[in-house]
Amino acid sequence: MSLATITVPERLLLGSGPSPVPQRILDALALPTIGHLDPAFGALMDDVAAGLRATFRTTNAVAIPVSGTGSAGMEAMVANLVRPGDRVICGVHGLFGERMADELARHGATVVRVEAEWGRAIPLTALLAAAEEPFAAMFVVHAETSTGVAQPLDGLADACRAHDALLLVDCVTSLGGHPLDLDAAGVDAAFSGTQKCLNAPPGLAPFTVGERAIARIEDGRVPSWYFDLSLVLGYWLKKPDAARAYHHTAPINLIYALAEALAIVHEEGLEARWARHAVAHEALRDALGVLGLERLAPEGEQLHSLLAVRLPDGVEDAAVRVPLLTEDGIEISGGLGPLAGKIWRIGVMGEGARVEPQERLVRALGSRLGGDTAGAVAALHAGWAA
Ligand SMILES: *Cc1c(COP(=O)(O)O)cnc(C)c1O
Repeated sequence: MSLATITVPERLLLGSGPSPVPQRILDALALPTIGHLDPAFGALMDDVAAGLRATFRTTNAVAIPVSGTGSAGMEAMVANLVRPGDRVICGVHGLFGERMADELARHGATVVRVEAEWGRAIPLTALLAAAEEPFAAMFVVHAETSTGVAQPLDGLADACRAHDALLLVDCVTSLGGHPLDLDAAGVDAAFSGTQKCLNAPPGLAPFTVGERAIARIEDGRVPSWYFDLSLVLGYWLKKPDAARAYHHTAPINLIYALAEALAIVHEEGLEARWARHAVAHEALRDALGVLGLERLAPEGEQLHSLLAVRLPDGVEDAAVRVPLLTEDGIEISGGLGPLAGKIWRIGVMGEGARVEPQERLVRALGSRLGGDTAGAVAALHAGWAA
C-alpha cells in the first residue's frame, strides 16, 4: 500500500453531517500552521470567541471551541456542570437525548428522563411537571438530528431558575441554521459542532457557559483534566495583565476553518441565514412530497436544518441510499434506533441549504424511485421562489 498520496471521491454531503465544506473554508484550513501562543493566533482566538457569541446570540464571556467533536462539547458540559448525585432532568426524544442520559448517568447524576416518541417534540408540560421537585439541571436537545425535530424551550428557563437549576442545551444541528437565541431563551450552557450548519470540518465543539453556570464550576472539582474549564479558560480568556497559559495545543488549522465559517455566517447575517434554511427546508419537503416521501415531523415541530422523510412502502433503504452515494455521489443518512430502515435524514445545512444541491438530490432520487422527477423539480423551484 502506498501512503504517498490519497484520493478522496467527490461527494455531495446532504446527510446528517458532515455538511458541504465550501472552498473558502478548505483554503483557510490550508493556511500555514502557527504556534498556539503566538500573539497573532491569540488575536484570532478573540475573533472566534466574538463570532461564537454573535452566532449563539449570547453576551456570555465564555464562548469557545472545545477541542473535539460535538460530543466533546457534551462531555465538557457535564464534567463541568454536573456533580454526582445531582438530580438532572433529561429530555429524550431521539438518539442524542439518549446519549446525554448515558453521559449523565456515567457522571453519577440521578437522571430523570422525560420522553417523547422519536419524531415528536417533548411536550413542555411534561418537562415543567418534572421540574416541580427540586433539581440541579435540565438538559434538552434543541435540534434532534436523529428525527428532524426542533424542541421548543419556552418557559424552561423560568422553571429552572425557580429551583436555582441550570438549563443546558445541545444545539449541535441548530447553531447557524434554525432560529435560536440563547440569551432570550435563558440558556445557561450550550454546545454545538462545526460540521453541521457552520459547514466547517468536524473536530471542534462551540461551547458557551453563562455566569450562573460558571459559579458552579468554581464550587467543585471537575473530574476531567482535559475539559476542566477553569484550566482551559486560562488559555482561551486572556486577562489584560496576564499571558495566555498553555493547557493543551489548540487545533490551530481547525480554528482557522471555524473563523472563516463564522465570517461567512456574519456576512450573510444570522437572521437571513435562518430564513434561507426555512425556505430550503420547505422547498425540499414539497419536492420530496411529489416523490411520495412524507416528512416525519408534524407541522410546527420541524427542524429546518434536517428533513427526515418516511420511506414509501416497498422501498428498501439501502437499495436506494447505497447507489445514491456510490454512483450518484450524494450522501444522505438512514434512520437510527427505532427508525432504522424507515426514514431518510437529509441535511439542509449551510451550503446544503441551496437550490442547486437540492435539485441534484431531487433528480437523483426521482430517477431511482421512478417518480415524477419533473414535477418534483418544479415544486422545488416553486418553493424557492415563494
Ligand atoms: C452530530 C450531533 C452530536 C454529536 O456530534 P459529533 O460531532 O458526532 O460528536 C450531538 N448532538 C446532536 C444533536 C448532533 O446532531
